[in-house]
Amino acid sequence: YLVRVAPVAGGADDTPVFMLVLRDISEARRIDRMRSDFVANASHELRTPLASLRGYIETLQGPAKNDTKAQERFLPIMLDQATRMSRLVDDLMSLSRLEAKAHLSPEQQVTLNTLLEHVRDGLLPLAEDLNVAINLFLPEQQVTVNGDNDELLEVFENLIENACKYGAEGGRVDVYLKAREDGAAEVSVVDYGPGIPAEHVPRLTERFYRVSVADSRSKKGTGLGLAIVKHILSRHRSRLVVKSAVGKGTTFTVRF
Ligand code: ADP
Repeated sequence: YLVRVAPVAGGADDTPVFMLVLRDISEARRIDRMRSDFVANASHELRTPLASLRGYIETLQGPAKNDTKAQERFLPIMLDQATRMSRLVDDLMSLSRLEAKAHLSPEQQVTLNTLLEHVRDGLLPLAEDLNVAINLFLPEQQVTVNGDNDELLEVFENLIENACKYGAEGGRVDVYLKAREDGAAEVSVVDYGPGIPAEHVPRLTERFYRVSVADSRSKKGTGLGLAIVKHILSRHRSRLVVKSAVGKGTTFTVRF
């Protein structure tokens, strides 16, 4: 608690009167701590690829100056590290943009049928690389929600990209759009991959959290995708529900 004592004008018989103000600052402290943890994590995540990049540059300037074999080997790795840093910076900027406009509520009319088709089209090259088929199951009727088109694109890009990356290689990803009877819309992204062990599920939307089960860590990512998804959905007063069965697959459902 933050305590403040302020003198107030004297009482009737001139006895001094004080006002005691108690303010609960635990929430402000918590936010402060989260912010500094975040900066520390972000710096750490950037420092690793930067250190590696510097190491390669020093080698290529020094001992491997005229070694074309080493150059051929190192340059793609260096490009990879630079790409990883760009991805990280893009995700960090996305998060800070969202924080900056947290008080504005998104208010476009977004038709989910066309939005999901856009997302699918944009992810086709990645899906082809991974040999995954993305199937959309859309109702005849147009399903429209109040929201921000670009932000919702980002949500479904993240979820469908994850399903392609972490789902079954050479498998399929099914995306269902439903208008429920109570008028609410629901989108489910289903994969038939290795699934997520239950103890990780509650932590998936934490910043930088990545599940380190066999080969999931080897896939490229920043651990910020689902944090961004959660942030955007809370601005849309919507929920993300995760159901996963190890060995069977995972379903991420957005309830508007
Ligand atoms: P990123 O993909 O950049 O690592 P995300 O925040 O999008 O970060 O996801 C966090 C972690 O959740 C991923 O690293 C992965 O381990 C796990 N994950 C996300 N989606 C799935 C999925 N469909 N199947 C299995 N694991 C998943």
